Amino acid sequence: MNTPRLEIRNIVKQFAGRRVVDDVDLTVMPGQVTCLLGPSGCGKSTTLRIIAGVEMQDSGTIHVDGELVCDTVTRKPPEDRSIGLMFQDFALFPHLTVRQNVAFGLAGRDRDQRVAGLLAKVGMSRYRDDYPHQLSGGEQQRVALARALAPRPKIMLMDEPFSGLDDRLRDDIRDETLDVLKSEGTAVLLVTHEPGEAMRMADEIALMRDGRIVQRGAPYNIYNAPTDLDAASFFSDIN
Ligand code: ADP
Ligand code: MG
Repeated sequence: MNTPRLEIRNIVKQFAGRRVVDDVDLTVMPGQVTCLLGPSGCGKSTTLRIIAGVEMQDSGTIHVDGELVCDTVTRKPPEDRSIGLMFQDFALFPHLTVRQNVAFGLAGRDRDQRVAGLLAKVGMSRYRDDYPHQLSGGEQQRVALARALAPRPKIMLMDEPFSGLDDRLRDDIRDETLDVLKSEGTAVLLVTHEPGEAMRMADEIALMRDGRIVQRGAPYNIYNAPTDLDAASFFSDIN
């Protein structure tokens, strides 16, 4: 058996006495994309923030590549979890060039090679000396992907990373992003409220509602056999 890149068990988080994350289990296997899919407000971002280490769970465990990174006793800081992050507001450093953004925080002899290789992969080599404000939204997104991948995280967490892009670009960027992630062999936990995005990108979907995982499985299994009427209607407005 392969060790999961990410395994969370029995994660609970309350705000003001309300269970926003209610006993959630998730597993992401090496090289796979797992989508956490559900309507706005169901607890997706809170779950991701807990995994990233910027929010503390009330109970439950988080393992990255078989290693305990967080339970109620142990708590590794975010930078020691081998986790990459991409959010909608991907915020490159405005005062650094494309190349400097991707190199930020990297050390070691192979740094320049790593940066050049990633910029080639995301198709941004010729913009290497530009500043973020000189780039379009899609180009900034590509640089953000390269930056997030640079330290070779074991798992990439992505929270609605494509929702800020305009419709014409979105499909292309999704496909490109998936190609780059697969070629790097990076496991991904992708949060989205769009069933179409999950269908397109996921190897496995975990459907979330009111803080709970209500169904999980391969995209077409969930699409073809939703667990209840709510799940069915959620998938009916796929685009
Ligand atoms: P999603 O990402 O699925 O839209 P969130 O995880 O952002 O959902 O939020 C889930 C619920 O938790 C929402 O009702 C939200 O208002 C609430 N919530 C999130 N963060 C906090 C917080 N820091 N304090 C209080 N309530 C919060
Ligand atoms: Mg959210």
